[in-house]
Amino acid sequence: MARYRDAVCRLCRREGAKLFLKGDRCYKPSCPIEKRGTQPPGQHGNSMRRGKALVGYGQQLREKQKVKRIYFVLEGQFRNYFEKAARQKGITGENLLSLLERRLDNVVYRAGFSTSRRQARQLVNHGHLEVNGRKVDIPSFQTKAGDVISVKEASRRNAHIEGAWQTAAGRGRPSWLAPAEGADMSARVASLPTRDDIDRSINEQLIVELYSK
Ligand code: SF4
Repeated sequence: MARYRDAVCRLCRREGAKLFLKGDRCYKPSCPIEKRGTQPPGQHGNSMRRGKALVGYGQQLREKQKVKRIYFVLEGQFRNYFEKAARQKGITGENLLSLLERRLDNVVYRAGFSTSRRQARQLVNHGHLEVNGRKVDIPSFQTKAGDVISVKEASRRNAHIEGAWQTAAGRGRPSWLAPAEGADMSARVASLPTRDDIDRSINEQLIVELYSK
């Protein structure tokens, strides 16, 4: 699978927003967006954006790129999510975000077992996670209401997981994930995420408009 290997902070600066791609650093004053603002990367970054508000297609494209980068999905996969969302009942844009939010790697991040989605994907790939007591190593696995996601017992001393778990409260946990009763390092999908549970800075309607052309 293709992977983005450049400095991930450039992606935030490119999108002009914090995308929370780098774990704990994103929550510290050393985050480049906190230090330098949202100047685009590159020598001419500032002059590129000056006075050029994005409109129409450009704006729609940037919004799609932003969401793909937040959830770390490639173009083909993202398109599949959109088509699935369009076939579902309800509002397509909200369905799309709900599908992305329910990916196992995102749930692992939201539950506090990792400090970023990128790290969460690695943990899932390496077989550290279980869903309802069974190992699942597919980051795109779709969780559903009632699922219990937990760190495998043998992996609970993993330094990355332990460190992330200890600082999870500071990053905030969404209300649709509840602690699983009687189980350590576990979270239960108490309900499906609603639009209010997902990043309000995303304008999903722009993505719907882009793909509806
Ligand atoms: Fe983005 Fe995090 Fe880098 Fe800040 S530290 S620019 S939020 S990836």
